[in-house]
Amino acid sequence: MTDINDEAIKPSPPWLNEVPRQSCLLCGAQEVAIRGMFKLSQKLARRIGAPAGKQRIVVYDLCAACFELGQVAAERVEDKILAEMQVQ
Ligand SMILES: [Zn+2]
Repeated sequence: MTDINDEAIKPSPPWLNEVPRQSCLLCGAQEVAIRGMFKLSQKLARRIGAPAGKQRIVVYDLCAACFELGQVAAERVEDKILAEMQVQ
């Protein structure tokens, strides 16, 4: 998972609550427990159209069962987001 030690996105930015709840990114369950943020590298962000110096963050939700997969879930989330952007 991409490092998200960035002052701009911690602890929890106000806009995060304005993003509508989604189904679980990994299994599609409607009842989600955890909201995550996937910060794209600057190189990747530029490849999908972000202006230089701007961040791109993907907000996603996970159900409790998928979240409990820990690192496995993190890797699947990363793979899924990158696959959907067709930038693998
Ligand atoms: Zn799930």
